[in-house]
Amino acid sequence: MSNPNWRLGTKCIQEGWEPKSGEARVLPIYQSTTFRYETAEEMGDLFDLKAAGFFYTRLANPTTDAVERKVAALEGGVGAVMTSAGMAATTMSIVNIAHAGDHIISSSAVYGGTFNLFYKTLKELGIDCTFVAPDATEAELEAAFRPNTRLVFGETLSNPSLQVLDIELFAKVAHAHQVPLIVDNTFPTPINCRPFEFGADIVVHSTSKYLDGHASALGGIIVDSGRFDWAAAGKYPELTTPDETYHGIVYTEHFGNAAYITKCRTHLMRDLGMSPSPMNGWLLSQGIDTLHLRMPRHCENAMKVAKALQADDRIAWVSFPDLEGDPQHALAKKYMPNGTCGVISFGVKGGRESASKLQSHLKLAAIATHVADLRTCVLHPASTTHRQMNDEQLAEAGVRPDLVRFSVGIEDADDIIADIKQALDQL
Ligand SMILES: *Cc1c(COP(=O)(O)O)cnc(C)c1O
Repeated sequence: MSNPNWRLGTKCIQEGWEPKSGEARVLPIYQSTTFRYETAEEMGDLFDLKAAGFFYTRLANPTTDAVERKVAALEGGVGAVMTSAGMAATTMSIVNIAHAGDHIISSSAVYGGTFNLFYKTLKELGIDCTFVAPDATEAELEAAFRPNTRLVFGETLSNPSLQVLDIELFAKVAHAHQVPLIVDNTFPTPINCRPFEFGADIVVHSTSKYLDGHASALGGIIVDSGRFDWAAAGKYPELTTPDETYHGIVYTEHFGNAAYITKCRTHLMRDLGMSPSPMNGWLLSQGIDTLHLRMPRHCENAMKVAKALQADDRIAWVSFPDLEGDPQHALAKKYMPNGTCGVISFGVKGGRESASKLQSHLKLAAIATHVADLRTCVLHPASTTHRQMNDEQLAEAGVRPDLVRFSVGIEDADDIIADIKQALDQL
């Protein structure tokens, strides 16, 4: 059934679950921790990685397996591992190939949770991170490398600042140093950007956002392009020398171009257990069935809202990479020619206080810390997530006091615009 030539919309619906004759048409929820075998030999072969199959849901589950194949097909990868949350996917994607004493490089324009992971938790584990500007030049990127650098990390479209990563440049410099580029592709989703086409080696997602789309289930996923040559790079002994906890298997020899993603599952899921529930795997699959319909609508609505705001003299500024004239526009068009996503930001005249008040006057748009799902929501960072900071500290963090983050949903755009207008009228 599966077909690499299918277009994205067909893959969203048809990839993943392939029922045999007489089996359920819709992906079943295998709500079971464990799986039964008839002989000890069959079970033994699974533990030795000699045979593929399910034996314990911490490592793999048929429901989760189907959604992993769907996302791998959409990104164009050789395999994927779903995790309990986006943060688990990012963590595993790194500790799979970086250890105490190693060093990583990351764009500084990353999700707040990712920044904390790199700045604090990985440091505590002995992995140092150098942050570089998302628009770093080749020379600036080069200067960040050390002999023990193991990978480079960035977000296609950063949350919440919507900085576009120059994936080709980051990949080129990473590859010159024989390390992979890992890209968090949460905001554009594979519908709007497929980072492997521009040289990225590993993609991670928080599926809690557009992929699920309904804000129903937390989840994350790691996808392996299968293109990075771990053996030739000569710096990844965990993939190229025997793993004594699996009877001396060498991942690159045994699993070929799926070495990285196989080790993620067999080693890290075994030892760290950041596994998703089968129910959340099913909800994710259900969400992705309509991803190709939802993403264009998010982009179209966001553009209508951005233009309406630009034309309103009570608005100080609007930032959305899809707008012509936006400083990010050219880069956004290169990597996301069909649009970026539904998240925009704008400033309200009257500054911090007016922006804060605007939130409470909105009726359709809900105040929520979540972004990137089908319901429109709003957040004024200066009075919520960043409320302990004064204007000076906000400026250092790159958050303007009057900034309103607006995640445009897929309701009727005219109702979203009318909601903002009536809220502005009350200021
Ligand atoms: C939300 C988010 C994460 C973290 O994902 P969770 O599912 O909340 O753990 C990571 N990266 C980006 C870009 C995000 O937006």
